Amino acid sequence: MTDAHADDRFDLLIVGGGVFGLGTALEAARRGRRVLVLERGSIPNPVAASYGPSRKIRAGYTDPYYAALARAAIEGWHEIERETGDELLVRSGNLVYTALDQQPHLDALDRVACDLGTPVERLERRQLAARFPQFRGARRALLETEAGFLRASACVAALRGLAERRGAIIATGREVKAVEAGPSGVTATTVDGARFRADRALLAPGGWAGRLLSELGAILTQTRLGLLYLRGLPAAYHTPQMPAFSCPDTGFYGFPAHRDDALKVAQHVAGEPIDTPDFDRATPPRGFLEAARAFVRDGLGLAPDAYPERAESCMYNLTASADFLLDFHPAEPRLFVATGGSGHGFKFGSVIGAVVMDRLDGIPSDRWSPQCSWSSVVAAPAAARLR
Ligand SMILES: Cc1cc2nc3c(=O)[nH]c(=O)nc-3n(C[C@H](O)[C@H](O)[C@H](O)COP(=O)(O)OP(=O)(O)OC[C@H]3O[C@@H](n4cnc5c(N)ncnc54)[C@H](O)[C@@H]3O)c2cc1C
Repeated sequence: MTDAHADDRFDLLIVGGGVFGLGTALEAARRGRRVLVLERGSIPNPVAASYGPSRKIRAGYTDPYYAALARAAIEGWHEIERETGDELLVRSGNLVYTALDQQPHLDALDRVACDLGTPVERLERRQLAARFPQFRGARRALLETEAGFLRASACVAALRGLAERRGAIIATGREVKAVEAGPSGVTATTVDGARFRADRALLAPGGWAGRLLSELGAILTQTRLGLLYLRGLPAAYHTPQMPAFSCPDTGFYGFPAHRDDALKVAQHVAGEPIDTPDFDRATPPRGFLEAARAFVRDGLGLAPDAYPERAESCMYNLTASADFLLDFHPAEPRLFVATGGSGHGFKFGSVIGAVVMDRLDGIPSDRWSPQCSWSSVVAAPAAARLR
């Protein structure tokens, strides 16, 4: 894109080409808005959180707000699959299992699933040993049958493609250094000095948010999380024999091998603090590899050294409450912020746009919750929690 558009005026200017930014670009374009997306890297972006072979999609939440929104997101991704013809959501099921006598998290998930009518199967030890022998020592589980995983980078490419098909302008390699809001609109200035104008701006810069708006730096924490990939596994560790899984006892979760993609293991924990979002993604956090290999050996019954592996890091962008921040800037009504995916935001990429656009358009919707407001996210107690 040349700077030809520097003289244009857009309805909505979006900073950030991850799933929050592109999900909104698609919805804004669907609503006939003139949209410009400025992304500092490529799309999909290897250093962004919206990247890679897989992100879990589940309605298994203890919070009914996210459980209901996730069910809408599952339908949203199926709709995008129908429009693109791509396989984006692999319906492998999601198995949440415990090896413990008591697992309150599992009981809480079960209650919310009952209340919302989320299709789940309840499995006991014998059934688990027969159907999913991959999970050593599993005593009890919930299998969410409509859940599974999203082919993350393919999803990002699909959102971009559909948004551009509806007229959105998407520019890569354009880093925004400042966004100024005034009575007549907003102006974004990129590091190379180009200026772009719009009525309003959406800031969806992920873990780089604090660089763009210092006040966001005080609300958000970035941490480093490890990912382990194993190749060449027996068929039992591939779809369709193995579901996506998570074990709340340890925080380990993962995805079966699928097509050319390796089995992936990770741990849903707060993560290792970092002092810059531009850290080396090729190195896993300290201690992660040893812990992940032990889980692969003891939890999945695989000899980790027998299979080629690759380990790397990725970045969580956390709010203290693990709620998303989806709200107007308290002092700049022309600025809206969508960030704080907190390790669970990707799945909502198919509906986040409608949530944001309804707020921008003043349309009441139960898909937005006050827990995502600026005041609520700021007021949350400092102790990081996860969802
Ligand atoms: C290890 C890991 C596992 C996860 N697992 C899951 C999962 O299983 N299920 C799930 O739902 N979620 C999961 N998540 C969370 C999910 O990936 C994120 O919540 C989501 O991708 C956040 O999207 P985003 O658009 O906010 O940020 P990002 O994807 O990080 O995108 C932000 C973009 O903004 C760009 N940008 C930043 N600053 C500027 C600027 N100044 N100018 C221009 N562009 C800019 C960046 O280059 C980047 O491309 C996981 C995250 C991690 C790290």
